[in-house]
Amino acid sequence: MPLAPTDSEVWFLTGSQALYGEDTLAQVAAQSRQICETIADDAAAGPAVRIVWKPVLTEADAIRRMCLDAEADDRCIGLIAWMHTFSPAKMWITGLASLRKPLLHLHTQANRRLPWSTIDMDFMNLNQAAHGDREFGHIQARIGVARKTVTGHVSSPDVSHRIAAWTRAAVGRAEFARLRLARFGDNMRDVAVTEGDKVEAQFRFGTSVNTYGVNELVAAVDAVDDSTVLELTEEYADRYTLAPELLPGKERHASLRYAARIEAGLREFLTDGGFAAFTTNFEDLGGLRQLPGLAVQRLMADGYGFGGEGDWKTSALLRATKAMAYGLPGGTSFMEDYTYDLAPDSGLVLGAHMLEVCPSLAATTPSCEIHPLSIGGREDPVRLVFDAAPAPGVVVGLADMGSRFRLVANRIDVVGPPEPLPLLPVARAVWRPEPDLRTSTEAWLTAGAPHHTVLTTALGREEFEDLADMLAVELAFIDADTTVRRFAQELRWNQAYHRLADAL
Ligand code: MN
Repeated sequence: MPLAPTDSEVWFLTGSQALYGEDTLAQVAAQSRQICETIADDAAAGPAVRIVWKPVLTEADAIRRMCLDAEADDRCIGLIAWMHTFSPAKMWITGLASLRKPLLHLHTQANRRLPWSTIDMDFMNLNQAAHGDREFGHIQARIGVARKTVTGHVSSPDVSHRIAAWTRAAVGRAEFARLRLARFGDNMRDVAVTEGDKVEAQFRFGTSVNTYGVNELVAAVDAVDDSTVLELTEEYADRYTLAPELLPGKERHASLRYAARIEAGLREFLTDGGFAAFTTNFEDLGGLRQLPGLAVQRLMADGYGFGGEGDWKTSALLRATKAMAYGLPGGTSFMEDYTYDLAPDSGLVLGAHMLEVCPSLAATTPSCEIHPLSIGGREDPVRLVFDAAPAPGVVVGLADMGSRFRLVANRIDVVGPPEPLPLLPVARAVWRPEPDLRTSTEAWLTAGAPHHTVLTTALGREEFEDLADMLAVELAFIDADTTVRRFAQELRWNQAYHRLADAL
């Protein structure tokens, strides 16, 4: 995948102090190395992130220098800190105050069981995290350092899962921070929720969002050479079940060739500009002869963020989510709540878009088809058609509430459609939202959350909670425990909190 999050590191810091002497500090170093290796070896932490051990920190200047280096190093996407022994925390103030990258406070011990029958004063001297980490927790709380705190032995699956979730969230945050997003045209006329403050987004997330005339894309599409088009159409034939009319020599093959031309041109435009996310708008297609369907689907499958109707916020969120989900089973796509099965024994959402759902969700080999599409007013667009594979997942939406951004997420179960959908020629997902359709939608609407979302079956609640904390953005989460009354109260409290937190 060309858009793999590569060359990222999480730095593992161990705090101590000089008074223990060299022998003890050597033991601290050896054991913290071991803890670090256990985390690094855990595949759940994500194949694209290295966990890098750093020498034990025993005095204020080294701590400050380490934090400054972490800020300056683009590879470093976050830090894990552990106080194996006691590390007087005034030494940490200057360093922590300069740190803006995500921090995980790991509250652990080298040993899992206490050796009751052999414990002596040397053991007590070495294994002091129980109070060393409390001193560290105190200074973080005192000076307001945003962090995640994780307790437990690193051999425990629960601990490694929580560290992995945080690591993936840190990948998402780093991706937002470096993301360049290209919009082809503005957003759909008169639509409210796809609007947003792009300056605030760049300040808050680091993402740069800029618009390009769609005819710049048309020029790139028209310039694609025939051999590239041929290669792509052959790849389509290999990877998908091609509708007979799209096969070489058949009546609609020219449309497949044009779809390939769009893909190649779009890919080249994005690569040349260093863009990892983009939007299109069916109201502004310029000289494009088809609404980009197949091209958008395949670019999403390669990790690009996408939003329809100029929806740059969902496009950015999709790219960040794709980076977070890298290497995990499951799929991640742009999605739109389309229509419901409201019957009391059902309570299902049918999600789709006109065309643009990512085949990473597909249950089986997608079929590549061509059908008319009333919107856009262009030639019939080629698209991949499939059902999303059943799996637990999450839908997440990002809204601009005027004074700030709000993330809303819902735990869902993607299920197969109860019956085949032979007359619906678009990719789609059918899901059951938690805790039920009524509560989920009443909560979603109460929050003013968008109709465009990111649907992922690769990630869960914790990754998004950690991401929201790192971005300092509200996350309202709807799941099995949600009641509408409580959820509405939570929104009010959050509103007060964020007004105060952002005041002045
Ligand atoms: Mn839409």
